[in-house]
Amino acid sequence: MLNRIRRHLSWKLFLSYLVVILIGIVVLASATEFVVPSAFERHLAAMAALMGGASEEMELDLFTNFRRAVNEALALSALAAFLSALVVSAFVSRRIGTPVREMMVASQRIAEGHFNERVNVPSDLTWDELDELGRLALSFNQMAVQLEHIEATRRELIGTVAHELRTPLTSIKGSMEGLIDGVLPSDASTFQRIYREADRLQRLVYDLQELSRVEAGAFELNVKPVPVLDLVESTVARLGCQFEEKGVVLETDISGDVLPVWADEDRIGQVMLNLVGNALQYTPAGGQVRISACRQGTEIHISVSDSGIGVTTEHLALIFTRFYRVDKSRARSGGGSGIGLTVAKHLVESHGGRIWAESPGPGQGSTFTFTLPVAT
Ligand code: ADP
Repeated sequence: MLNRIRRHLSWKLFLSYLVVILIGIVVLASATEFVVPSAFERHLAAMAALMGGASEEMELDLFTNFRRAVNEALALSALAAFLSALVVSAFVSRRIGTPVREMMVASQRIAEGHFNERVNVPSDLTWDELDELGRLALSFNQMAVQLEHIEATRRELIGTVAHELRTPLTSIKGSMEGLIDGVLPSDASTFQRIYREADRLQRLVYDLQELSRVEAGAFELNVKPVPVLDLVESTVARLGCQFEEKGVVLETDISGDVLPVWADEDRIGQVMLNLVGNALQYTPAGGQVRISACRQGTEIHISVSDSGIGVTTEHLALIFTRFYRVDKSRARSGGGSGIGLTVAKHLVESHGGRIWAESPGPGQGSTFTFTLPVAT
């Protein structure tokens, strides 16, 4: 019985009402026992004096009848209160218990992996109009939506990573089989192809590690005032030769009022390398890439513009999404995994800056700009 009470809200409610009723009865009964006799005697004595006196026997008789009437009334009201407690506790526990039970079932279903599970919330009521239970149900549904989204992202991520890994692995396996069967010549070009695919795999794994690190925020920023020119010069020093090799001109244009920026030199150097590296990759020979910087209020805007293949408007908003590549086949041969800009975005935002891309259209080049706070 005790267990039953412990496990059921309706029983607990009923018992709490019963306790209140019992306290009421005890108070009333004590009042009848201790206060009423003296009060009754006082009033009766006053009445008897007015009427010219009453016998003691009559007084006792009157009092006994009065007490009987009070006790009868008390017993009747106790019964009525008991019945009301029964009805009210059943009603209230239904009102509270039903949505709580519904949420319990839904949370169990979610725990089993059914992330599309939702509970009923009166749709015509706003947050302010809902009671605590309604708000709990609404928060529950919001949590379920979030979980469903996380689960979808997780599935998509696993699918994409598996797909990205499968391509170079299939190629390496195919080349090795060709070599074993003697179908492919064991010459430099075959080994180079295998090497390229292994290299691609290695870069992909590195990118994935980097992505998970920045997405989890698991990196420390060593922020200090850094001259923009230093950032630009170290990028030019690292990529200059590749530009020369490809026949793309690399220019810099840092305006005079550019103050140092608050930045982690290594991390922002990584962003610069990614943007300038992309500009080189997507600009054909004979084109130009320009790194410029200017001051806009309390921010420094650093831009990398190229005269390359450009990006259409529909792709502009998406290229910062992980694994997003405009031209999948081109990126594959070029080795891009579509992670670089996602990492760059996280790194810039962790400095309190923004990053965006602009392009007049395909074949008309593009400009990638990011902002950093001025170090004053
Ligand atoms: P990837 O490693 O594929 O270059 P990114 O995240 O750096 O990955 O870039 C995502 C996509 O954005 C690229 O696949 C490419 O389609 C597009 N993109 C990036 N930079 C440029 C650019 N300078 N010009 C044209 N397209 C670009």
